[in-house]
Amino acid sequence: MKRILDVSHWNENMNIRLRLTLLFAVLVGSIMLAFSLSVYYLYNQFREKEFNKRLHDKALTTVRLFEDVGGITEELLHDIERNDLTTMYNEEVTVYDAADKIVYDSGKKPYRIAPALLAQVRAGRDLSLRDGEKEIVGVRYIDKRKQVLVVVAYAIDMYGFSKLERLRLILFTGWTVSLLLVVLAGWFFASDALRPVSDIIEQVKNISARNIHERLKARRQKDELGQLAATFNDLLSRLEDAFSSQRSFVSHASHELRTPLTIMMGQLEVALLQKRTMEDYQQTIKDAIEEVKKMRDLINGLLELARINNDIFQLHFRSLNTDDLLWQVRELLLTQFSHYNIQIEFDESQEEESEFRIKGDRALLQMAFMNIMENGCKYSEEHRVNVSLLTQSDTVRISFTDRGIGISEEDLPHIFEPFYRGDASKSRKGHGIGLALTQRIIQLHNGKIWVFSQLGKGTQFVISLPLQSNDEKMSS
Ligand code: ADP
Repeated sequence: MKRILDVSHWNENMNIRLRLTLLFAVLVGSIMLAFSLSVYYLYNQFREKEFNKRLHDKALTTVRLFEDVGGITEELLHDIERNDLTTMYNEEVTVYDAADKIVYDSGKKPYRIAPALLAQVRAGRDLSLRDGEKEIVGVRYIDKRKQVLVVVAYAIDMYGFSKLERLRLILFTGWTVSLLLVVLAGWFFASDALRPVSDIIEQVKNISARNIHERLKARRQKDELGQLAATFNDLLSRLEDAFSSQRSFVSHASHELRTPLTIMMGQLEVALLQKRTMEDYQQTIKDAIEEVKKMRDLINGLLELARINNDIFQLHFRSLNTDDLLWQVRELLLTQFSHYNIQIEFDESQEEESEFRIKGDRALLQMAFMNIMENGCKYSEEHRVNVSLLTQSDTVRISFTDRGIGISEEDLPHIFEPFYRGDASKSRKGHGIGLALTQRIIQLHNGKIWVFSQLGKGTQFVISLPLQSNDEKMSS
């Protein structure tokens, strides 16, 4: 299976390389082909035009000479033509009179031209024709006796064609050679462009949970692949954080569970060392129960954390009154800790109590409010927390303020992490998972939580939760 995957991956890599090369070659090849064809075509046009002009001049020179010398013998005319340096290959000039009769012909075999074409030339339209290799030009000439003559000259442009052929050869060879060069260059260029990708693939292959601290190195930091590597490195950093918090979570959890067990073992072993009074035994049992309670609280907290962090966790949302909830939590806390002082204040401007309605899971929100209220009392000498409630646009804001020990600046960013306990709070009971739970619960309710604190002065937690909309109120 692995081998098949490897081969297909290799193929894909090859395909990109091949595709890039072909694309490059087709693109450059077509541009060059278009360029060569236009050079060839334009040069041929130029050659034809120039040759026709020569034929035209030749026709006129011949007819003028023919007219000037009048009675001159054909042989003399031939002599003149023979000495003419501009003579062209297979050249022949024929002069027709007004009745299409040949009055002069330079060659042995006059070129027969259709009477219709002769009439056309006579009417004033110059003729320019091509018959195989022969190029034919027809010119009208009016002589001194006002007689309309038609001079037809033709020849084969030997030099022009041989130049054209040469040009064709040069262009074709040039095109083929450059296409080869382009394919080669494209192949190397594609390999060079893809090398960083293969590099990254190799590096990623070597990263596992064991060496997650390693990072990808990109040759060029600023290009797209450099950005890809940077994005991947960010992902690795986040994963590394998640791994290390997972690890520290497990070690913290074990430590927190082991401590009460060790204390309990010690107490029970000491009690067994010698015979004791009934009161001593009772005291030992009470102490052990205390430790067991601590363990139970911790295990409950951990289970709750695991439960609400589970993706398939079912929330039981219903319409709730925030002020009712806060009063209930206050009652629950006071039954456990009667010395706590919890003051709840409302925004007086709120006329109806339904103004504080939210949608939420009662048990979870109770747990969240309880943690914050309890902390406020637990971490202040006067064991007092002030809770105030107000609505702000479509949210309800609950703030919990105490004048307790406060949280140091170093501790502040970490207090929502599981098992994190501030230095100042170590002397008080707790496991450090209350705020982690609270934060998660608030997140599940699409709310937000903030903390403001000053060491030695006090702390304020603010929770905002979305208010239930009027439509939801009607339907619930
Ligand atoms: P616990 O209270 O069990 O230690 P929490 O998760 O509830 O755990 O709180 C985490 C830490 O945040 C506490 O250990 C404490 O250092 C700090 N903290 C939370 N609330 C307060 C508060 N009201 N005043 C001072 N410190 C607080």
